[in-house]
Amino acid sequence: MPRPLMKYCPQCGNKTEPIIPEGDNRVRDVCDSCDLIHYQNPRIIAGCIPAWDDKVLLCKRAIHPRKGFWTLPAGFMELGETTEQAALRETLEEAEAVVQAQGLYAVFNLPHINQVYMMYRSALLKPEFSSGIESLEVRLFAEHEIPWGSLAFETMRLSLEYYFQDMKAGAFKFRSADIEKPLFR
Ligand SMILES: [Zn+2]
Repeated sequence: MPRPLMKYCPQCGNKTEPIIPEGDNRVRDVCDSCDLIHYQNPRIIAGCIPAWDDKVLLCKRAIHPRKGFWTLPAGFMELGETTEQAALRETLEEAEAVVQAQGLYAVFNLPHINQVYMMYRSALLKPEFSSGIESLEVRLFAEHEIPWGSLAFETMRLSLEYYFQDMKAGAFKFRSADIEKPLFR
């Protein structure tokens, strides 16, 4: 299983060694000097599918990775917030849009990069939005307008596919998927 290598202790700066600590069952980076055990766990990315009528709001990324590609507003959860708060905050930051959360819609596991995505359905309170600092452009897309070939991430493609399938079916149901390591582009 992938485990980012750590060479130096974040607490004292001395060298760490990859060992299995007593009572544990997997390798951790442990400090030679202060005995700090550096635990690493997956990171959560929270985002929104902001809707207005039959359209959804996408942002064109102004930052790497995948600069210039389209994404739903989403980003790493910060300490002290809930996943829903993180999703709403990212939508405000990236699309300058105020939305009302309508419940958790999709969860994606990406074990090869140690990430978990949590995507919320949400409603724009009014069709007002603009490019936040991390976006080059923000606009509403109906299904036939979605730039399928220029989406930033597999998680966004799946979120949008599920969303429009459910919209046409007339009922949104909770979705989840485990995404394996993508092929080289
Ligand atoms: Zn240390």
